[in-house]
Amino acid sequence: MILKKRKVVLIGCGLVGISYAYSLLITGDADEIAMIDTDRKRLAGEIDDLCHGLPFAAKNTEIYKGSYLDCKNADIVVITAGVAQKPGEGRIGLLKRNREIFADIIPHIMSSGFSGIMIVATNPVDLMTSFARELSGLPYTKVIGSGTTVDTGRLKYLLGSYYNLDPKSVHAYVIGEHGDSEFVPWSSANIATKSIDDICKENIKYSMEDMYSIEDRVRKSGASIIEFKGATCYGIGMALNNLTRTILSDEKTILTPSCMLMGEYGRSGVYIGVPAIIGSEGVSEIIELKLTDSERHKFSESCDFLIDINRAASVH
Ligand code: NAD
Repeated sequence: MILKKRKVVLIGCGLVGISYAYSLLITGDADEIAMIDTDRKRLAGEIDDLCHGLPFAAKNTEIYKGSYLDCKNADIVVITAGVAQKPGEGRIGLLKRNREIFADIIPHIMSSGFSGIMIVATNPVDLMTSFARELSGLPYTKVIGSGTTVDTGRLKYLLGSYYNLDPKSVHAYVIGEHGDSEFVPWSSANIATKSIDDICKENIKYSMEDMYSIEDRVRKSGASIIEFKGATCYGIGMALNNLTRTILSDEKTILTPSCMLMGEYGRSGVYIGVPAIIGSEGVSEIIELKLTDSERHKFSESCDFLIDINRAASVH
């Protein structure tokens, strides 16, 4: 009997990439992980270090230094390669430098004959996902950014702590750009189908003011972790693992990755974080939340912000 192995190629094995690979080894969601990085010495060390944990892992995942030829039969290629923002550097500068890296990577992936799902985490993630789609020529349903998955994770964690509940029992999303213009559409946030707004009205222990300060904390989480420890890696690593499992197991889970809008929310041609059903074919459906006027306005501003940055980076 020949079993089809679930194969992932990881491009960029820095902090985010390695946290993702480590998480995949622990959960055992892939059978094979091929790893690519331009820093060959670091890559060799990371692979050895990870392999030494295999005897203690859920299963004997095959993990090795790969080449772009490995993309040919991969189910998923995950890109976390990139440079970090320099002090004082704006988004346009970062976008330009990371575009150069993608202009090198993506043609290699595609010339292997790759036809699976591409996941992008490199920042600014919405625009880098859009660029990856453009360069790859893959259907837009098969190129997905990590979007606001990690921000939604942060929100659920904080709401779970506030209401003393398992975060998985809190239903709320962060949508929009993965960045300062992201927001929580509170009108659709609920616990056991009861709206969070009603819960706050009915119980004096809780308040919408607290919800808005949690939203603010979520928005500032990335920057605050970077201030404390230099980078974020575990949350995004686990969010990427979750996306991977959802795709490889065709779970049809609703997450908030960066997806290309094609008329949803009244917008087209922009990649942005929205709730979407994710399975083996990538994005099978974008869920259109019923937004209030003010939420619709925030969403529209977030789309416009991404379009403006993209345009500015193309002009300069
Ligand atoms: P890092 O510097 O630790 O790792 C980046 C890796 O990319 C390095 O190992 C580098 O050698 C490699 N690389 C660079 N150019 C390459 C190329 N052409 N081919 C192959 N590998 C190449 O950075 P990190 O902390 O792992 O962050 C990686 C990216 O993820 C950054 O863009 C960061 O902003 C982003 N990020 C995104 C999220 C999110 O929520 N989407 C969260 C955290 C970080």
